[in-house]
Amino acid sequence: MTSKNRTEIVLATRSEGKVRELVEMVAEAGFAPVTLDAIGVREVANEETIEAFDTFEENALAKARWFSAHCAGRVVLADDSGLCVDALGGRPGVRSKRWAYAPGIASQDLDAANNARLVRELAPHAVRAARYVCIAALSWPGGELHERGECAGVITAEPSGAGGFGYDPYFVCDELRATFADASANDKARVSHRGRAVRAALRAFARAAPGMHK
Ligand code: IMP
Repeated sequence: MTSKNRTEIVLATRSEGKVRELVEMVAEAGFAPVTLDAIGVREVANEETIEAFDTFEENALAKARWFSAHCAGRVVLADDSGLCVDALGGRPGVRSKRWAYAPGIASQDLDAANNARLVRELAPHAVRAARYVCIAALSWPGGELHERGECAGVITAEPSGAGGFGYDPYFVCDELRATFADASANDKARVSHRGRAVRAALRAFARAAPGMHK
């Protein structure tokens, strides 16, 4: 499907933080971003069980395929991402979203609980290196692909900044020398795991399906 002569790409996520970032990235690459809400793909119970695998790759592809099946004929972009902390053996990793989950906790309360757990578990550790990882997966009627993006940083003891989402107030990006919550949206997108993965995936898609990049 096209919108103003640009191929539409469905942003297959329920995360408002991700949607804000993906809209800009997809538009900048010359496509027309479309949200699940905009095309009437309503959330179903236990939707998070789609991403029950142990790798970012499997989860991203599972989400892309699942949402593809719910919007036939469209190009679908899914991302699976998370924070991998060296001193915690790479955790929370693929479990980043629901690391501190308890019944009844969601959205910003879940982010706050996740961040409290991060601070608590890292308290005894002097080495605070971490990286954000993102796999961006694209599925379209003629195929599918996925690309990885990473961004290195350290975890601070004290949060800083009001931008971004999730773990961003605690993640000091090596390249920006600021937390992702202090960085502008443009700066975060330039160096972030998601920016890198999504740009690579969209470039690969434009090569793989040249007729769909208007
Ligand atoms: P999922 O990809 O839906 O499994 O969730 C990714 C989770 O990783 C988010 O809910 C956040 O907890 C964390 N995360 C991934 N990317 C970011 C980011 O750019 N900023 C902050 N937290 C992130």
